[in-house]
Amino acid sequence: TKTKNKHSQMDQPQAQRTAPQALTAETGAALFEDARSRLEDVFKTLDIHPDAQARLMQPSLSLQVSVPVRMDDGSLKAFPAWRVQYDTSLGPAKGGVRFHPAVNQHEVTTLSFWMAVKCAVVGLPYGGGKGGVQVDAKLLSALERERLARGYIRAIADVMGPDRDIPAPDVNTDATVMGWMIDEYEHIVRAHAPAAITGKPLSLGGSPGRVAATGRGALKVLDLWADREERKPDETIVAVQGFGNAAYHFARLASERGYRIVALSDSSGAIYNADGIDINAAYKDKAQHGKLAESQAGKHISGDELLTLEVDVLTLAALENQIHADNVGQVQASAILEIANGPLTSDADEQLAKREVPVLPDVLANTGGVIVSYFEWLQNRAGETWGEDEVNQRLEALLETEAGRVLNLAEEKGITYRQAAYRQGIERIADAIMARGNCL
Ligand code: GLU
Repeated sequence: TKTKNKHSQMDQPQAQRTAPQALTAETGAALFEDARSRLEDVFKTLDIHPDAQARLMQPSLSLQVSVPVRMDDGSLKAFPAWRVQYDTSLGPAKGGVRFHPAVNQHEVTTLSFWMAVKCAVVGLPYGGGKGGVQVDAKLLSALERERLARGYIRAIADVMGPDRDIPAPDVNTDATVMGWMIDEYEHIVRAHAPAAITGKPLSLGGSPGRVAATGRGALKVLDLWADREERKPDETIVAVQGFGNAAYHFARLASERGYRIVALSDSSGAIYNADGIDINAAYKDKAQHGKLAESQAGKHISGDELLTLEVDVLTLAALENQIHADNVGQVQASAILEIANGPLTSDADEQLAKREVPVLPDVLANTGGVIVSYFEWLQNRAGETWGEDEVNQRLEALLETEAGRVLNLAEEKGITYRQAAYRQGIERIADAIMARGNCL
């Protein structure tokens, strides 16, 4: 029988489908080159053993698979997908799985490298991993998405596990998808293995506080920085690019804290309200219409305009490569907070550094998600459930220590926050590589 799921968007006219924000194979390759050039910069300033340098220049495992999915109409589609483990010297690979039409091997590799750096920056016992499926998940019915999630796990099951590689949510994947994935994995290994995936539904061993953790962590990093600058939340005007999970919770918590969020965007456009956007109203509108552009919570502006607003903090919480050599000149914000992975190209980053615009970098500012994933993994291994307050307190305490260290290092050495975070992370990974000995 042909089941037409009620969540299916297959019958929507083409124009209503969300246009993919393109990251082609070429821009993907450039992304990884860009990431490696930042690594080489770190090698110039830190005394990293050449053996460790050589090991850090390429991923340790890169798996490309094809995920065949029986579609609701009876046809079969095969989606290209990847899982990359960048470095696992500090512990099992850790990182999310994204569903996006522009996913490619270079992008997944770069994202796995950033995961390795960020886990090390905040002192987690993990290496870096990432997965991705090249698919426009918005065009799939719920049952097709479930088959895809299960097929992906069947394809990578040999390289994952609680002590090998632990997937989690990322762009266009959430707790529901993790629920399907852990169920598939547990069928394959014929045992309960909740610590094999994080970001799960609470009923399957997910952690309280995980859903809001990336936003909460980013707010903590912003608070720590603002405090040092003697900048009060209610004197701080913030624009947020993005309105996915991380962006929504960041905007909600930041506005509760007193920051004035004047702009938000999604792939349909942006809204602006000089008095501050009512985040919950915008969220409801988006849930109802599927598009932020139809929200009455602010006046409609373009996504590009949002990036050039004269605000105190421009928060980038969408995708990679949003500010680059061509548009960085128009950025008027006094500081940048990166919640997305890699939203600035290295060119843009250099120009902002020259203009002395501080950037709170992704590998520090978006670690809240993976930190609470680590707490989830600890709870699963101990058979415990912590309360949400305890999770939030532990998250904030960990960031106070580790982000505090990065901010201090930047101030002491007169380097950017990104350079300081990379030094802290790469040094820890290199130490673990060298401690494992020399005989290969
Ligand atoms: N996808 C998130 C990130 O990019 C979270 C990864 C995780 O929890 O393992 O940091």
